[in-house]
Amino acid sequence: MAKIRQQNVSAAQWSPNGAALGALDLTHPDNQVYGENVFSLAEQRQRLPKPVFKQLQATLERGEALDSSLADAVALAMKEWALEKGATHYAHWFQPLTGSTAEKHDSFYNPVGDGTAIAEFSGKELIQGEPDASSFPTGGIRATFEARGYTAWDPTSPAFILENPNGALLCIPTAFTSWTGEALDHKIPLLRSMEALSGAAVRALRLLGDDAAERVFTTVGPEQEYFLIDEQYYFERPDLVTTGRTLFGAKPPKGHELDDHYFGSIPERILACMLETERELQKLGVPVKTRHNEVAPAQYEIAPIFENSNVGSDHQQITMQVLQNVARRYGLVCLLHEKPFAGVNGSGKHNNWSMGTDTGQNLLEPGATPHDNLQFLFFCTAVIQAVDKHQGLLRATVAGPGQDHRLGANEAPPAIISIFLGRELADVYDAIEQGVQGESRPGGILGLGSPVLPPLPLHGGDRNRTSPFAFTGNKFEFRAVGSTQSVAFPNTVLNTIVAEAIDDLAGQLQDALNGGASLEDALRPVLQKSWAAHKRIVFDGDGYSEAWHKEAEEQRGLLNLRTTPDALPYFIKPDVVSVFEKYEVLNERELHARYEVFTEQYAVKLNIEAETAASIARTLLLPAAVRHLALLKEAGVGGLVAETEALVDEFVVAIRGLETANAAENQDDEPPAAWAVYMRDKVIPAMNAVRDVADRLEKIVADDLWPLPKYSEVLFIK
Ligand code: ADP
Ligand code: MG
Repeated sequence: MAKIRQQNVSAAQWSPNGAALGALDLTHPDNQVYGENVFSLAEQRQRLPKPVFKQLQATLERGEALDSSLADAVALAMKEWALEKGATHYAHWFQPLTGSTAEKHDSFYNPVGDGTAIAEFSGKELIQGEPDASSFPTGGIRATFEARGYTAWDPTSPAFILENPNGALLCIPTAFTSWTGEALDHKIPLLRSMEALSGAAVRALRLLGDDAAERVFTTVGPEQEYFLIDEQYYFERPDLVTTGRTLFGAKPPKGHELDDHYFGSIPERILACMLETERELQKLGVPVKTRHNEVAPAQYEIAPIFENSNVGSDHQQITMQVLQNVARRYGLVCLLHEKPFAGVNGSGKHNNWSMGTDTGQNLLEPGATPHDNLQFLFFCTAVIQAVDKHQGLLRATVAGPGQDHRLGANEAPPAIISIFLGRELADVYDAIEQGVQGESRPGGILGLGSPVLPPLPLHGGDRNRTSPFAFTGNKFEFRAVGSTQSVAFPNTVLNTIVAEAIDDLAGQLQDALNGGASLEDALRPVLQKSWAAHKRIVFDGDGYSEAWHKEAEEQRGLLNLRTTPDALPYFIKPDVVSVFEKYEVLNERELHARYEVFTEQYAVKLNIEAETAASIARTLLLPAAVRHLALLKEAGVGGLVAETEALVDEFVVAIRGLETANAAENQDDEPPAAWAVYMRDKVIPAMNAVRDVADRLEKIVADDLWPLPKYSEVLFIK
């Protein structure tokens, strides 16, 4: 006899003692934990011989390859620092195409033959590791029989210490390649794309009259949404344990209709968990800043201060890991899935993106002078052009089975990529297009007659929550990224396509300047032309509405790639291959590999869901329904017997249907794309049919017989 219904009282139990952090006076210098577990610049300055430190920094600033003679000195200092912090092992920490991070631990200690051991860690071990590449997804780049892969130290992302009650681990951020040099991870293309964008942007800045900037960094500030639920419910639900989402669950009487959760006061246990999560992240140098309740019950958000794309995306991976680890200390489980619960909002990751110079300018910040605004309009136009041209690719970077419940379903944001600019900025573009000259009013921007751009709201973003790509005052917010996804790849794509657009606009600008035009006169037609060609992507209205879907597809010719199998082929379209090859971010083989890996992951994940759903339905839910039916028959309540019997029969048919669909799928016979389409068109509908009956049964079967905790419990008992 299931007894779950009675266990709710114990689910919410917790006491703030035990692991309590205690109140720290954060104004006291000794209590600052920020960066405590990071081999930071300050730490390096203190521990490295002066010439080594200087040489290392100089190399990093120029973005050049590292002289291997430096490595031994850095390794020694890093090892001493790590040992002092209690580390016993080190790991090359990398981001394979699984989307999560990988680490293989090696001990610092080597036996020396006389029964003792010494701690060793050389430059060679710092610079290079050799994990077995065949065990990671490679999309055919690595066959199992030639399994060698390399991890290579990324000195631009600081090493850090992961603590554990029984020791500590030195983590060295690394890139992961095949022995032939193909990128098998998310870091390598990201670093290459940052270089590509930097080169293009610096060239453009020279044309715009900036002689000071030497490098441009792309920046990322990812807002992470997540759910926290009591771990008891998690472990009582095989669907959550195996797939990260609930495959069954009727809509509860109360959802988020009351709008009482968003920004509501945070329950004590949750807040305690958040505080410890933040403290752990601060130790790791992750600049966490914001926390709040999200729209759905039991949903929350954490956001850091932005950093350069490489460090920011490493920190994002760490954030997901720490969120999950710390939750367990509070009897909670952190769900990062894009759609853990049907019928309530899913989770995304708002990817705030901008470009900044090494001289401290944000290139997407409208300025106080006409010149600054020319520069702003140039870079903003490049983003609009890039997003329009590569809308299919951008959609593909955020595709995945979890995402199909959000994008294209009735939830934020839609699968159609469009840009929200805000009225003020759109007006500026319209004026440019119409060539409203106002002749040469002194100080006029593009002869528009206004001395500067109209004041743009710094945080205008939330005025349109439905837009997948919104200008928010001094950055763009790519809101379609999924909550489980690594931000590295979406940013790689953004950097690469914007580099291409910058080069295109800069080429035109150069030609006009060569013809002797002033900067304003040279730029105006360039912006006009780009805006005219790409303004179709700009949309400020309601992205959920039917009318928009019609207009976008029928009048504007925008892509509406509803599902993952629709979107992923954009990775290998000729214009995508061509831009990635031009900027040497990924070659055709590497792009094909990603296409294959992501397609296969889609099918595999759905297969796991489908088999889990079939098993839960047959071995947990059907027996509960049958017992309930037997009770009704025993009690002789005729009307209810007929109703229940019909539903049970329907359930059996649906389960058989799912089992048949599962049995028919055969990954070995088919290319991944066909397999993915089969999963989408045959298996998902079969799963939905089973769920549909199950959720109706949940509402009539005796509560003490129903074996799965219900939404009304999982989402509301905190
Ligand atoms: P909102 O909820 O209005 O989107 P938040 O304060 O939650 O605002 O998040 C804004 C995010 O944008 C933060 O992570 C912040 O660091 C980031 N951000 C701000 N400026 C930049 C920038 N120049 N480049 C990248 N990200 C930025
Ligand atoms: Mg936001």
